[in-house]
Amino acid sequence: MRAMTVIPGRPDSAELSELPNPQPKDGELLVEPLYLGVCGTDREIIEGGHGEPPPGRERLLLGHELLARVKQGGAGFEPGQLVAAIVRRPDPVPCACCAQGEWDMCRNGQYTERGIKALDGYGAELVTLEADFAVPIPDELGTFGVLTEPSSILAKAWEQIERISRRACSAHERVLVTGGGPIGLLAALMGAQRGLEVHVLDRSTEGPKPEAVHALGAQYHAGDIAEVAEEVQPDVVVECTGVAELVAGAMQHTAPGAIVCLAGVASSRTLSVDVGALNNELVLENDVVFGSVNANRRHFEQAVGSLREADPDWLGRLITRKVPLERWAEALQKHDEDIKVVVEFAQR
Ligand SMILES: [Zn+2]
Repeated sequence: MRAMTVIPGRPDSAELSELPNPQPKDGELLVEPLYLGVCGTDREIIEGGHGEPPPGRERLLLGHELLARVKQGGAGFEPGQLVAAIVRRPDPVPCACCAQGEWDMCRNGQYTERGIKALDGYGAELVTLEADFAVPIPDELGTFGVLTEPSSILAKAWEQIERISRRACSAHERVLVTGGGPIGLLAALMGAQRGLEVHVLDRSTEGPKPEAVHALGAQYHAGDIAEVAEEVQPDVVVECTGVAELVAGAMQHTAPGAIVCLAGVASSRTLSVDVGALNNELVLENDVVFGSVNANRRHFEQAVGSLREADPDWLGRLITRKVPLERWAEALQKHDEDIKVVVEFAQR
């Protein structure tokens, strides 16, 4: 079978490898991928900046945003059924969080991740998947099931925002999302599904991103973060870019009692910020700033719920490019009009 592989730490090592078919062990399903989403993490791995192969191996099988069809079932999964796949596996110790199935909150960093950290991913024509980490996808969701993993990241972020918001005297009503890529748009979708007034800030002035925002009934902004935030006065900010100016701006221009969720990862960048003024802004307004990463099973299930509720035409706007497996490296190239790019597997 053919597989997307890379040598972590070595740029330009990505290739389509020929590997023996995997054999499922007890408790594992054998699944045939249909679509595999790619994201910034995959790009970092093929550029040599991230990722870790399985112990004793040079190459890592890439890919973690899976939609697949079960070929060999078990544990309640039937052949033919659609599944998505959880990415992280609990650490072996396990820490208090992993012991409770909250591996997204792992305390010791010894977790592993399929396609990212010490475990092979899902970018191959056949893949084994532990049944305990498979997520049933209803047939009606079809192709859009490939959005489950990125949606799970936002389901977790929104769950945490809601937990923090319980300390407030009144409901949070206005949300500003920074970044109009797939993560930002899914954050906006979930804000709209909660009945909030949603604003999205991105650099594009036209094209699929503003169109997708307007189609949600949300407002789109392409201006400066400080000006937009001053105008919107958000009481929730979901920062999805990791861009230094936006991170700093997101924390500094909010309504009192605001919750700022940082969900983007940045490449290192120096920015001069008046930390005293930032401190005073946070202290004097009782703001909360928190980071959020990854997702556990509950969040994957919430993600499926959100995607089922969403307008399929709107979800269709998010998948802007499908690249066949043979040319998978092209999926990682950035095009201006891209939102979510997926690798498409031929049906056998
Ligand atoms: Zn842990």
